[in-house]
Amino acid sequence: MIALSMLPGLAYIFLGWLNDIYLRAVFWYLAITLLSIRGYYLYKQFDAEKMSNTQLESWYKNTSVLFYFYFAAWGVIFLMYAPETETGMHYIAIFTEIGASTVAAALLFPDKKLYKPIVAGLIIPMIIYFILMANWYGYVLAAFSAIFGWVLFYIAGGSYKLFQKTIFQSVHDYLTGIYNRQYFIEYLQRKMNDLRQKNEYSYLLLIDLDHFKTVNDSLGHDVGDALLCEVVVRLQNNIPENTMLSRLGGDEFIITGANYADKQQSKQAALQISEKLLSILKAAYIINQHHVYISASIGVSLISGSGASSADFIKEADIAMYEVKEKGRDGVFFFDEEMSQRVERNLLLEQLLYSAIGKEEIYLVYQPQLNVEQKVSGVEVLARWHNEEQGEIYPAEFINIAEQTGLIVEIGYYIIESAFRTIVDWNTKGINLRYMSINISMRQFMHHSFVADVTRLYQKYLANNDIKTHIVFEITESIVAEGDNITTIMDKIKDLGILFSMDDFGTGYSSLTYIRKLPIDEIKIDRHFIKDLSRYNNAEEMVNTILHIAEIFNLAIVAEGVETEQQQAFLLQHGCKVFQGYLYAKPLLKQDFETYYRDNS
Ligand code: C2E
Ligand code: MG
Ligand code: MG
Repeated sequence: MIALSMLPGLAYIFLGWLNDIYLRAVFWYLAITLLSIRGYYLYKQFDAEKMSNTQLESWYKNTSVLFYFYFAAWGVIFLMYAPETETGMHYIAIFTEIGASTVAAALLFPDKKLYKPIVAGLIIPMIIYFILMANWYGYVLAAFSAIFGWVLFYIAGGSYKLFQKTIFQSVHDYLTGIYNRQYFIEYLQRKMNDLRQKNEYSYLLLIDLDHFKTVNDSLGHDVGDALLCEVVVRLQNNIPENTMLSRLGGDEFIITGANYADKQQSKQAALQISEKLLSILKAAYIINQHHVYISASIGVSLISGSGASSADFIKEADIAMYEVKEKGRDGVFFFDEEMSQRVERNLLLEQLLYSAIGKEEIYLVYQPQLNVEQKVSGVEVLARWHNEEQGEIYPAEFINIAEQTGLIVEIGYYIIESAFRTIVDWNTKGINLRYMSINISMRQFMHHSFVADVTRLYQKYLANNDIKTHIVFEITESIVAEGDNITTIMDKIKDLGILFSMDDFGTGYSSLTYIRKLPIDEIKIDRHFIKDLSRYNNAEEMVNTILHIAEIFNLAIVAEGVETEQQQAFLLQHGCKVFQGYLYAKPLLKQDFETYYRDNS
């Protein structure tokens, strides 16, 4: 715009000088120069990253005003030169007006408030001018100008609609019609600029639907899509004013709150709205005659204009949301420092875990299981990880990470192989256990190569070695959620002579149906129940019930986590046959187990 004005502008001064309207032309040029300076200043001022929403709005207002003045200046040229018919300057005036209106239509079409008044303001004086000529070609030119004006409006209007549509599509989510991720990130950046300037606080709620994939998989994507739309309607109807809802993708939504004077207020507001949303999202949805139930996990991050970037705050909300997922879903958590340290440590351990097997950092310990005569009858194999930087890392920490990364398949294989080797070795040393239990994680169990891997290892180490020890695979109740084909996998493993034990019995999806349906041979009473024995009255009933269940279904039973004589006495009295716990021995290194065995068999 500046180049378009400053260079041709000089020609107007020259023409003015030729035709004695020099002074007016110079004044006009001065005006256009001032406007250009102002334009350059506004251009420099614009910074999408640093401006707040208020600043952006006022910037836009200033820029619009500048455009009105700019084109008004071109209108002035017309008024100045149009009366100069004798020198032929009116031709220049008419061409200038046509040119200016075309430029206005072409450049300003994205905003109706700009192009409509400006194009009209340039065309109408020209029409009047032609009419005032009061002769036949004057009227014809007036008509032509009107048509030309209409064409400009038509073209700018078309471009305007197309532009609006493109803009709308680029910032909105196609399915639900709310703002999309891209827009949200820009918006959040401006919001943070706002918070920084006013020294205020707000919050981010990251909402992720629980088990949405199951809805998609079982009822189809149409139902899934309809559910998402219905979720959006509920969210929109229940969020307070001044909040902004967008879809980050999939079944993830994000809400930014209003601004608050202090952090505590913002926290309070975030909690209130999260709890409300959790409850309204849980009510039944009726979609294509299906009753669908879904809950949500909400992670909250409190935001301010402080150093952190918008991406950081989204990440915080994400971390908090995953924490909810891990703690059983359907809830809300606020991000805190401890969470972030845990996430960092997990990332670090994840990296280290990749090389743990190669460096032989994973090893096994062995915890004895004793029978009623207090003789060692079996052993549970437990994994340990010794890292040179991090020291001793317990399975409670690394098995989870291994599961999430899929490394558990490799690690699990390594554990089974090491355990089988130990049996072979003990066999030659005359250590003959009845049972050796190995923990199998769900992801490892469900892996397509599991049966083949176990079969290969079994044949390599145990099949031809005349070994009396029975292998027991400990699985957990979460496996029940994996569906029907787990029985098929279990049956194939059982064909090798391997038994199954249900570990941590009573802490998961306890259902009597699966005990009947799944080919399990043993249950292990979870150590928490044993721990509760001396502390709560109903714990006794609980343990007693589990012992009964084992009896009814004809299953072997092991009590784990036995730490005191009283616990042992209670268990003995109620018919428990196998015991494991610190009362007898902690998990032992291989040589230590061998010594323990010799002393207690
Ligand atoms: P789990 O299979 O239920 O193993 C029993 C856990 O209880 C072990 O913890 C054991 O050290 C501990 N424990 C044994 N006796 C007592 C006692 O008297 N009192 C108390 N408080 N605890 C006792 P550990 O070794 O830390 O293992 C934790 C869990 O990690 C295991 O629970 C198991 O689910 C998993 N895990 C351990 N090794 C492996 C493995 O090789 N593969 C897989 N997939 N998971 C493993
Ligand atoms: Mg176990
Ligand atoms: Mg257990």
